[in-house]
Amino acid sequence: MSAENFKALVLRQVDGRTIAAVETLSSADLPDGDVLVAVEFSTVNYKDALAVTGKGKIVRTWPMVPGVDLAGSVLESSSERYRSGDRVVLTGWGVGERYWGGYSQRQRVRSAWLVPMAEGLDSRRAMAVGTAGLTAMLCVMALEDAGLSPDQGTVLVSGATGGVGSIAVAVLAKLGYSVAALTGKRDAHAYLQALGASEVVFGPEWSEAPKPLEAQRWAAAIDTVGSRVLARILAEIHYGGAVAACGLAGGAELVTTVMPFILRGVRLLGVDSVLCPYARRLAAWQRIARDLPREALDRAGQRVVGLAEVPQVCTELLERKVQGRVLVDVNA
Ligand code: NDP
Repeated sequence: MSAENFKALVLRQVDGRTIAAVETLSSADLPDGDVLVAVEFSTVNYKDALAVTGKGKIVRTWPMVPGVDLAGSVLESSSERYRSGDRVVLTGWGVGERYWGGYSQRQRVRSAWLVPMAEGLDSRRAMAVGTAGLTAMLCVMALEDAGLSPDQGTVLVSGATGGVGSIAVAVLAKLGYSVAALTGKRDAHAYLQALGASEVVFGPEWSEAPKPLEAQRWAAAIDTVGSRVLARILAEIHYGGAVAACGLAGGAELVTTVMPFILRGVRLLGVDSVLCPYARRLAAWQRIARDLPREALDRAGQRVVGLAEVPQVCTELLERKVQGRVLVDVNA
């Protein structure tokens, strides 16, 4: 391989099917952009799994280098904001969907999409956080903005063993909240308790439609699942409580009633990380560096794979067999 060449996982459409393969590319193949990044780590998010397996309509242009997150160092820059050698992180902005992403040893991107690596993080830890961790922190910040504090009662996190859920549990516990972790995995107690959950919630009622109002159990919640899980959470939130909704792992539909809103003053807060403005993004990364315990981050991000193993991990993730975060060492 010449110095110009590098490896990337490339998705192509063949007879209407998505085929993923590691290919050798050169910098001339890369898209336009003002910063060339030597990628060190990426990660596997739910959206990546949908893109790589072709099970979701995520990819908008072909061929595509997927990977919605990347971390590494700047090789070349014509932006005033970054210089060669700067450590950077990129999450979202349609990267891995419309624009080429992180499953590559090199990527050319727009400087506006990057944030400087927060102090205390490195590429590996930043990708143990990734879009999932950024979203978890944005959810915590949304609940804080809505007035939540630890004395108000237990906060429920759904999809708790997932990427967003695991980090949300760890951050809330570190901030002094009593955290209930809702999971569909029978054997996840030890993992969730080690992340800081004080209660693990599991049961068949979570796939059933709730009554308009159920017993009030939670001061607030972070929901990554949507559908019936979100409907039940809304029906179980305390008077005046809030729910940060960021995901649809269980489905995009939401069948509920207005009762939690008009009789209990419950607030439903939408959270998006993809187009989150720069200042809020930077603030969230700084909070992550401060409020996410290093042990929790290392526990959530223990599994590391190379580019060739990404398709298999994506299949496992959609089969709900993955716990925490999977890191992609693009140079492995
Ligand atoms: P993961 O796949 O890592 O985690 C999702 C978790 O949800 C699973 O681990 C599982 O947890 C639970 N789950 C999965 N399928 C179902 C199901 N059918 N019914 C109920 N629970 C289910 O994904 P991420 O954590 O990366 O993302 C979570 C969600 O958040 C996704 O929908 C993703 O698209 C969304 N997201 C949104 C972002 C935004 O900007 N708004 C950014 C990042 C993610 P358990 O087994 O413990 O129940």
